[in-house]
Amino acid sequence: MQFISTRGQASQTSFSDVLLAGLAPDGGLYLPQGWPQFSPAEIAAFKGARYQDVAFSILSRFTSGSFSDGELREAVEAAYADFDAPEIAPLTQIANDQYLLELFHGPTLSFKDIALQVLGQLFSRALAKCGGRATIVAATSGDTGSAAIAALGGLANIDVFVMHPKGRVSDVQRRQMTTSHHANVHNIALEGSFDDAQSIVKMLFADTAFADQISLTAVNSINFVRIAAQCVYYFTATAALEKPATFVVPTGNFGDIFAGEAASRMGLDVARLVIATNANDIMARALNDGVYEAGVSHATLSPSMDIQVASNFERALFEASNHDADWTAAAMGDFARSRKLVLPTPVLSQLRARYSAFASDDLETRAAIAAVHRETGRIIDPHTAVGVAAARKIGKSPSPVVVLSTAHPAKFPDAVRQAIGAPPPEPRRLSGMKDLPEKLDILSNDPVLIKQFISSRVAA
Ligand SMILES: *Cc1c(COP(=O)(O)O)cnc(C)c1O
Repeated sequence: MQFISTRGQASQTSFSDVLLAGLAPDGGLYLPQGWPQFSPAEIAAFKGARYQDVAFSILSRFTSGSFSDGELREAVEAAYADFDAPEIAPLTQIANDQYLLELFHGPTLSFKDIALQVLGQLFSRALAKCGGRATIVAATSGDTGSAAIAALGGLANIDVFVMHPKGRVSDVQRRQMTTSHHANVHNIALEGSFDDAQSIVKMLFADTAFADQISLTAVNSINFVRIAAQCVYYFTATAALEKPATFVVPTGNFGDIFAGEAASRMGLDVARLVIATNANDIMARALNDGVYEAGVSHATLSPSMDIQVASNFERALFEASNHDADWTAAAMGDFARSRKLVLPTPVLSQLRARYSAFASDDLETRAAIAAVHRETGRIIDPHTAVGVAAARKIGKSPSPVVVLSTAHPAKFPDAVRQAIGAPPPEPRRLSGMKDLPEKLDILSNDPVLIKQFISSRVAA
């Protein structure tokens, strides 16, 4: 399989190169040249299959030419060996025709593990084959960082730098990152927002001499491998329900929900994709008002979604413009300059044919946690709650509604306490973490300083 850039100025490249590069050299995002196709019979056969086998079937269409079937099978098995649920992504009913797709049973208790565990396995195999080394710089709104550290900490020939917005992630999220004892893990608490961290990562990539010198790589959802691995649960959930579903997706960087668009372009019948945002509602405004415009970033109860610039939206724009790379490049350039993009009518109508969007504030988030607890006895996390709040705004749906449950509630005990008066029980994965020493550097929001910090640590 060959991959192209949304901005049309990078040459076609292989899966391995996409994996190791993250961002395309023209600043665009990689997408497959053509989406692999699955027939209704192939999809129906996923019902009851092991998650790992479905993941292998889907990923092998992307990895062909870069990894053998044997290598991919081994990587997928290793990736999911440390999950707490044998189904990996179990579907549980919370109301009549309403379900949670539980994506938080991996090592760091968020859905980020599902893709990053695969990415880590493929990464170490790819580096071993080419004999190279890599420097990963990840901006995290809280969960990508710990998942990347769990997947890549301790691996040879890789340095991992994780930047989180200082004071804007939960204590549990911070400790999951800063208590890693691996020498190749470097935590930066950035005096800024997630968007600041993400824009520094993009600047480092744009500095191509530096990026080449340290073999810079991204494991944020700008890396297409994340999207490929996340398509899988849209297939398994639909196969299990035996009918098309409306998926409600708590959204920040638009990666998880774009994986739903990818699944649909690969032949999966998806009834609708519902974007659920918190008060950082850029995506809800883009869909509903037709103007994609960054606002100021608000700190909310669902910090992993405190994002104004949704990087993966570029992929959806490229698709909705019928692969018009020149327009996509110009549009993203305009947005970078003015922080605003008016969506042309044909693009907007294509997006609206697939997506709806609802924003919910902290009050509604707490109310959703409380309501689900009252009605089912389950405790959900505040990101899942933003999804449940959106699901309740859809009105009557002719298709089953599946809310992606993106994190374990124990990562956000304060939000849960505010909603139901008591924190959630602590799972074994988190026990004892409070007693471990934390390792992090606090740095100001200055790309030059961050670059120096990375250079000195890589050299060491
Ligand atoms: C990252 C994250 C999201 C948002 O996912 P995107 O792919 O960035 O849209 C939602 N919930 C949780 C718990 C997350 O960690």
